[in-house]
Amino acid sequence: MPANKKLLILPGDGVGPEVMREVRRLIDWMGRRHIATFDIAEDLVGGASIDARGVPIDDATMEKARDADAILFGSVGGPKWDSVGFDLRPELAILRLRKELDLFANLRPAVVLDPLVDASTLKPDVVRGLNLMIVRESTGGIYFGEPRGVEILPSGEKRGFDTESYTTGEIERVARVGFELARKRQNRVTSVEKANVMQSGLFWRQTVTALQQREFPDVELSHMYADNCAMQLVRAPKQFDVIVTSNIFGDLLSDLASMLTGSLGMLPSATLGAVQPSGKRHALYEPIHGSAPDIAGKGIANPLAQILSFAMLLRYSFEMNDEAAMIEQACSNVLGSGLRTADIMAKGTAKVGTSVMGEAILREMDKLNAAG
Ligand code: NAD
Repeated sequence: MPANKKLLILPGDGVGPEVMREVRRLIDWMGRRHIATFDIAEDLVGGASIDARGVPIDDATMEKARDADAILFGSVGGPKWDSVGFDLRPELAILRLRKELDLFANLRPAVVLDPLVDASTLKPDVVRGLNLMIVRESTGGIYFGEPRGVEILPSGEKRGFDTESYTTGEIERVARVGFELARKRQNRVTSVEKANVMQSGLFWRQTVTALQQREFPDVELSHMYADNCAMQLVRAPKQFDVIVTSNIFGDLLSDLASMLTGSLGMLPSATLGAVQPSGKRHALYEPIHGSAPDIAGKGIANPLAQILSFAMLLRYSFEMNDEAAMIEQACSNVLGSGLRTADIMAKGTAKVGTSVMGEAILREMDKLNAAG
């Protein structure tokens, strides 16, 4: 049994605490079965923290986040806090965590589990077996580049502008995450930019190429223009293993890729920082979906994205690949048995709520564990 790792759990608002409860049951199950135990801290973020402490995330919680080996985040926000003012929004909790822990690589897998192949809007043959990973640079590029603004020209007309900007170091550190991931997968990276029309795109391509030659000659690297990538993701998404791209292109392409899988309630994500000299790497895992205020408190939220985010955490922060694979298999088997939460209901399946879905996962884990 591995040594205890420090895990910080931040359930947040809305359905966050409801789906996180199912992860806690899974963690308890792992302890009971002597598979793993963790040093767990739990704290408030988002609206819950605003209500209790007046800020979306306080300094003490930030300190726990810095100290943790990994953070499991739920979701934040909701209509209750819509009028708190821009500087106090619940969403600032996640922005502060990303900024202060320098979480620059956003990992969004697009995996189609067999039982959900019909949930995609694309033909089953196009998406069956799909398993790709988008690595999006998430702290630089045009969303942060300077100069930016709106100016008044001598003619009196206005001009709005932003700046796409990437340094060698910014490109290399996110590309390195992509290459390292590829080595644990199918060993292929597609680097995506617009080298045909953007100087920063050409520089991105040259930098990634040089890094691959220097540090990752064993990983297959190809390049693709972002517009073509969008088209290829819809035409033949299974051609990709790992896609590495900038903040803005990653924003668009990862949303597109998420819909290949058909459901928001199924999708996990991770945001990683750099490996520090101590060997530690800050990492935060969270579902793609928000706090779903329209269904919060009803006990019907799909817990799978939160559970699969925990599986990602085990794989990428704790190197617990077998345990992660077991959780993913349990999710797939439960769906295969015909159980569905309301958001992924299909003809001929049985509708269940959050906790029944969680219990079904635990029963499946028991079966898989017994089968060894
Ligand atoms: P949302 O993801 O919360 O909900 C969109 C739709 O998907 C809703 O119909 C919702 O019921 C459904 N849905 C989401 N998660 C589900 C689940 N687990 N099971 C079943 N159905 C699910 O997005 P939204 O409605 O645009 O935003 C609601 C709030 O969440 C806002 O305050 C927003 O700012 C916040 N938000 C937070 C995060 C985050 O914490 N990282 C991300 C996105 C949105």
